[in-house]
Amino acid sequence: LTRLAKRITAEDLSQRLDLGLPEDEVGRLARTFNEMIARLDDAFQRQRQFTADASHELRTPLTAIKGQAEVALQREREPEAYRDVLRAINGEVDRMIRLVGSLLTLARADAGQIPLVREPVGLAGVATAAVDHVRPAAEQKGVSVGLGGGPDVPLRADEDLLLQLLLNLLDNAVKYTPTGGNVAVDWSIEGNRVAVRVADTGIGIPPDHLARVFDRFYRVDKARSRSEGGSGLGLSISRWIAEAHGGSINVESEPGKGSTFTVRLPVSA
Ligand code: ADP
Repeated sequence: LTRLAKRITAEDLSQRLDLGLPEDEVGRLARTFNEMIARLDDAFQRQRQFTADASHELRTPLTAIKGQAEVALQREREPEAYRDVLRAINGEVDRMIRLVGSLLTLARADAGQIPLVREPVGLAGVATAAVDHVRPAAEQKGVSVGLGGGPDVPLRADEDLLLQLLLNLLDNAVKYTPTGGNVAVDWSIEGNRVAVRVADTGIGIPPDHLARVFDRFYRVDKARSRSEGGSGLGLSISRWIAEAHGGSINVESEPGKGSTFTVRLPVSA
C-alpha cells in the first residue's frame, strides 16, 4: 500500500490502491483513499479544462484586435477609417474586461474569497431594480418586461449579489427573446422558500443542452452568444450566487416557446 501510494502524484491520479484487500480495516482504508483520489482526479481535470477554456476565450478577442490593427497599419488611411478600427478594438476590449471580471469572480468564489454580506433585503425592491435596469435595452429591442410577484418577501441576502443574479437571468431572457416577445419576473412562496421565476417567450433551449447551461463556458450556440457579448459564464456565476445563499437554480424550457429560470431562496424568518 505504501509503495503504491507513493507513486500517486498530481500528474498521474489515474492509479488506485487496488490490491484486492479483504473487507477489513486496512481494506476499507484503501477503498476510502481510492474514493479520495477519484475526487482529486476529477477536481484536477476540471481545473485543467477551465484553464484551457479560459485561454481559448481570451485568445479570440486578442486575435480580432491584432487582425484589425494589422490591417489598419498596412497603409495610410482616412481619419474615419482609423476611428472605425479603434471602435472595433474598443468593443473587443470591453468584451475582454467583462470576461476577465467574470473569471475573477469565479476564481474568488472557488477560493471562498467572496464574503457574503447577508443583510435583511426585500425581494420586491431588488426585483424592481433589476427590471428597471434591463427595461431600456429590452424596449429598444421591442421586448416587454413585466414584473408580477405578490407581496414583498424578506430575505437575508447579499443585495449586490442577488441583484447580479437577477440581472444575469434578465439579460439572458432579453438577449434570447426576439422582437415582440415578453419577459416576466414573478415569485411565490413554497413553504419556507421563495421561488423567483424569470420567464421569457424566446428561442428556448433544446432538451439535450438543458443540464449543461450552468456549466462554465457552456453555450448552446457559441457564435450567437459571442456576437451578443456573452462569455458563457453568466449562469455559472448565477448558480454560485444561489447556492452561496443556501438556494438553488434550475431551468425549464421548450425550444421555440421560451424558457423559465427558477431561483429558490430561503425566506428570512
Ligand atoms: P452567455 O454569456 O453565453 O449568455 P450564460 O452562462 O449566461 O452565457 O448562458 C449559457 C447559455 O445558456 C447561453 O449561451 C445560451 O445558449 C443559453 N441560455 C441562457 N439563458 C437563456 C434563455 N433565457 N433562453 C435561451 N437560451 C438561454
